[in-house]
Amino acid sequence: MYQNVPLGSLGRAWAKRQSGCDYCGNGVAMTKRAQHRVDPDFDAWPSPAGEVSTIVELWSCDYCGKVTVDLSTVRYRIEQAEKDGAEEPELEELEHQQLWPLAQPRELADDVPACVREVFHEAATAECHALYRLAGVGYRSAVEAMCKERGSTGGNIKARIDGLNQVAGLPQNVVDGLQETRIVGNDSVHDGLAYSAEEIADLAGYIEEAAYLLYVVPAERARMSASRSARRSASQSGAALPAPAAGRP
Ligand SMILES: [Zn+2]
Repeated sequence: MYQNVPLGSLGRAWAKRQSGCDYCGNGVAMTKRAQHRVDPDFDAWPSPAGEVSTIVELWSCDYCGKVTVDLSTVRYRIEQAEKDGAEEPELEELEHQQLWPLAQPRELADDVPACVREVFHEAATAECHALYRLAGVGYRSAVEAMCKERGSTGGNIKARIDGLNQVAGLPQNVVDGLQETRIVGNDSVHDGLAYSAEEIADLAGYIEEAAYLLYVVPAERARMSASRSARRSASQSGAALPAPAAGRP
């Protein structure tokens, strides 16, 4: 029935997709340019119904044209497609991973003290490699480092995170988000519970927001103030005006 389906025609239903492009940073449409099965064997298309296959796909960004390479694990539902009268086997995507460009771990800004930035970077590296239990533990450690650096002392980590509101003026909704990292970290350490990629990314977002408010905003204001002061002094003394400080892009 589906013995001679030409390479590349399978999965036409998802030959366009919406996703973020790692090259241009846009949320764009991407077009599938090629695909090939790499497991269990290279040549035979399609696989028997119910068989799980691993395929490599090449997608190009409709905006910048650059190519992303993905590895997908799919299951063919040929019988279901026949029942539905579809022209091609249905594919169920079980797992998906971007091979190229290599995913880069998220990083905090240089204004964030190294004691926080480095722990966060290690957690982000674990996240990048889909090691979500380690990432959960690591993000919890990054929050602990943040509490320590800001001098929030309390009998336990819950109290220390709450203290970021009083000692550092962190808004309560951000503090509540950081409490989530404590809970997930505890689950990862004590119960071995793994969270999903999206759940861990959400946690990282809370820490990025807290770090921005605690470190980046004050540093930026200090730079702007110094810049205004330097220009004022130069103006008063008749010297050439220095360039104004650049804000965040
Ligand atoms: Zn692009």
